Amino acid sequence: MPEGDTVFRTARRLEAALVGKRLSVSDFRVPEHSTLSIVDWLVESVVSRGKHLLIRVNPPAKVAAPPLSIHSHLLMDGHWDVYATGERWRTPAFKARAVLGNPAFTAVGFELGFLQVLRTADEVEVIGHLGPDPLGHSWDPAEAVRRLRLNPDRPIGLALLDQRLISGLGNIYRSEVLFVTRVHPLTAVGDVEDLAHLVDIAHRLLQANKDRARRVTTGTDGVDRYWVYGRAGQPCMRCGGPLSKESLAESPRSAERDVYFCPSCQSADVPASEATH
Ligand SMILES: [Zn+2]
Repeated sequence: MPEGDTVFRTARRLEAALVGKRLSVSDFRVPEHSTLSIVDWLVESVVSRGKHLLIRVNPPAKVAAPPLSIHSHLLMDGHWDVYATGERWRTPAFKARAVLGNPAFTAVGFELGFLQVLRTADEVEVIGHLGPDPLGHSWDPAEAVRRLRLNPDRPIGLALLDQRLISGLGNIYRSEVLFVTRVHPLTAVGDVEDLAHLVDIAHRLLQANKDRARRVTTGTDGVDRYWVYGRAGQPCMRCGGPLSKESLAESPRSAERDVYFCPSCQSADVPASEATH
């Protein structure tokens, strides 16, 4: 599942290709919007909010319509590609869900988990629930801490994925943030000693990676990209002991639900019943 930094970079790429230009191609390949055409509309802005993407468009003067927002979510396999107009797509066309183009560039949304077009004025209905976004202009760490604390009994490893509390963290960042802060994923939120520090680390890791083509949490010179993610059974880079993983997900449908951690470096706050086995 894409992390917030992937969506942030996607927004930047779309912004460079589309913003300030009128669309000469508009093709929505989803039943709800298959008849919608926004040719001649001006792309006003592209923004990411957590893992949600919004492409805002304004109608030409001759069209009496409100500004619209194309709202998409990448979910598991979705991606927006940008091509020089006329260039051959790298993904099969049947996977395309939206095509937006101008004479220079064409943006194609493939396998989008979610695509809807709504009035820009109604955006709050689809993103209003999101918690503070570490990559957003209005990042509010105190509010993220406050929201996380609302359910003190929940394991922190689950709370970090709840986009209503803090938005943009996925499976990779939750494992990495917990390792860096030495917090066991099963620790109840209320037992995390320094939640503000944990939120700060999440912010720093996302910020450090927002402009990188290759995500790294271990430092730019790191041979290993991640401290723990995807490294179960390998030695911990801090203590040398074997890393572990545990299935921990809100939804059983989630394919990538393993949280990775070091049972020795991250054991301090585990409830006694969990630590004994
Ligand atoms: Zn360790």
